[in-house]
Amino acid sequence: MYLGDYEKRNLSIRGSNDTLAANHIYCVGRNYSSHAREMGADEMKPPFFFSKPDWAITTSDVKYPENTDNLQHEVELVIVIGKNMSIFGYAVGVDLTQRDIQTDAKKQGKPWFRSKCFLGSAPISEVIMADKNFNHSDIDLLLSVNGKIKQSGSCNEMIWSPVQIISKLATEIPLYPGDLIFTGTPEGVGVIVKGDKVTASIPGMVELSFSII
Ligand code: MN
Repeated sequence: MYLGDYEKRNLSIRGSNDTLAANHIYCVGRNYSSHAREMGADEMKPPFFFSKPDWAITTSDVKYPENTDNLQHEVELVIVIGKNMSIFGYAVGVDLTQRDIQTDAKKQGKPWFRSKCFLGSAPISEVIMADKNFNHSDIDLLLSVNGKIKQSGSCNEMIWSPVQIISKLATEIPLYPGDLIFTGTPEGVGVIVKGDKVTASIPGMVELSFSII
């Protein structure tokens, strides 16, 4: 697959004429006990990291990937890294997952790479700058498909908080401005198909809508 020259994705920043060049995408797996349980995973095991390529980012509609019959949504708070590993801001994102490929990879002890990395697998909203009152515990996450609510959770249920996530990641890898961290999903993940309209939001703060085409 060659799609021509590649440029970094630029995300809008609310209240600013500047844009933010998105860099690496890191993701936290099983950061909510309720989601670990619904996946049949051991909720006592700590969360962990995986990543997505930056070209997975999209701010528009998502083409249904060719290799799956089980595409699923995971609504997540996204932390945007600023200078000196600070929290620049946050956004709402959807960690789209090819669940059949992931289940197969888990069985075979293979990496999740193919299940998580495809064009459009990281839809993301505009970025809201964090102020000194930023507190992830105040943030709720909502996702609806065709107007029906499928996921509703609170970030105060996170096992690793944003600050803990950043400090754990930073012991192992360099974090740069523009890095995005998808912080895990609450329960309620489910299947989406071609023609579905997905709306993800942090109610009262930011919303993201896209269709599966
Ligand atoms: Mn996820």
